[in-house]
Amino acid sequence: MSVLAINGGDKVRDKLFPRYNNIDQNEINEVIKVMQSGVLSKYLGAWHEDFYGGDKIQEFEKAWSEYFEVKHSISVNSNTSGIIAALGACGVGLGDEVLVSSYSMSISASAPLFWNATPVFCDLEPETYSFCIDSIKKNINENTKAIVVVHIFGCPSNMNEIMEVAKEHNLYVIEDCAQAPGTKYHDKFVGTIGDIGIFSLNYHKHIHTGEGGVCITNNDTLANKMQLIRNHAESVVENKGDIQLENMLGFNFRLTEIQAAIGIEQLKKLDTELKIRQEYAKLYNEALDKYNFIKTVKLDNRTHAYYFQTFQFLEEIAGISRDKFITAVKAELEAVEGRENEGVPIGQGYVKPLYLIPMFQNKIAYNSKGFAFKDEISYEKGTCPVVEDMHYNKLWTHDFTRSPLSLDDVNDVISAYVKVCENIDELK
Ligand SMILES: *Cc1c(COP(=O)(O)O)cnc(C)c1O
Repeated sequence: MSVLAINGGDKVRDKLFPRYNNIDQNEINEVIKVMQSGVLSKYLGAWHEDFYGGDKIQEFEKAWSEYFEVKHSISVNSNTSGIIAALGACGVGLGDEVLVSSYSMSISASAPLFWNATPVFCDLEPETYSFCIDSIKKNINENTKAIVVVHIFGCPSNMNEIMEVAKEHNLYVIEDCAQAPGTKYHDKFVGTIGDIGIFSLNYHKHIHTGEGGVCITNNDTLANKMQLIRNHAESVVENKGDIQLENMLGFNFRLTEIQAAIGIEQLKKLDTELKIRQEYAKLYNEALDKYNFIKTVKLDNRTHAYYFQTFQFLEEIAGISRDKFITAVKAELEAVEGRENEGVPIGQGYVKPLYLIPMFQNKIAYNSKGFAFKDEISYEKGTCPVVEDMHYNKLWTHDFTRSPLSLDDVNDVISAYVKVCENIDELK
């Protein structure tokens, strides 16, 4: 019997894992061309032919629309900006309620506040981290205006069921696809099923431009409003001839020509990256499925982007806690090159359920008077019991499916999991 590293035995691996980096000479060449042109951004915040940005922005948005088979792609400087623009375009405002997820980047839940609307948290399903439909139904009332669906970890949400409830109650559906670019639900790209889909191009995502984002839609009116909110709406609408003024309060959410040039090259790499992640994820699932205290994700009618791969650890069957198990697995492995201080990229849970962050706990976003929260909407502990159980007891995630991990790297991670599973009694 091999002694676990946590108990003084030899580690499975003592070499760092390679860092994720998909920037190569193609991006460098395209950036040089933009630099040589001297035009690093061509936007004008006025009704003018440059209102929609320069050549690279146009080319990037066209490529994005072709890939996702949508009518409009509106590039923005982050997914954060994209969610704000999307909710603004949907006309969300004071008194309105927006259904949000508690298990995501904070902006997926805080965005309604930027338009003075109130976030309402819905619970998730334990397998795909999709909205629990009963929780949506329970929270809908006459003030509910929109739902921000998050395809968290790269797993498409149950869009058929969500769209059905949304249609019945006349709600806008915004899809936060930051972690799920290029994944499909019933053969449709996520982001094209709701009213608006939003992608992130920040450094940590599958493909990136340093910072950046894209909103997609097939709706001409929503596209126009997002373009206006992206670029100083209030000073543009008059000359543009738009008479509808609601939420026509703009920002500067513009992407630069340099970022667009990088984005064009990055998009070409998305399919290959997804394929690698899907292949590796399958190997982990096959190796771990034989343990009855581990639950892998079973996919039906959808593909997964594996921003993170997720698993559930069933403590009652294993006889030890998830945290003890994961600590032992991590002790067998090493960190990632250049990111040593983050340790082994295996997570016990994901982010703290968002309603537990100080802003919601204290209902303070703008001033001390509780604007724009509502007395009857509570953020107390227990609001989303499934998310809390997953976060504190069952879920673990890893970032071990991406390129340029080799098959040997993946096999080391699998060996670490298997070693701890086979010697689990050592931890009791
Ligand atoms: C990364 C991320 C965001 C924010 O994206 P930015 O481009 O950094 O603003 C939002 N939601 C989810 C689910 C994310 O993973």
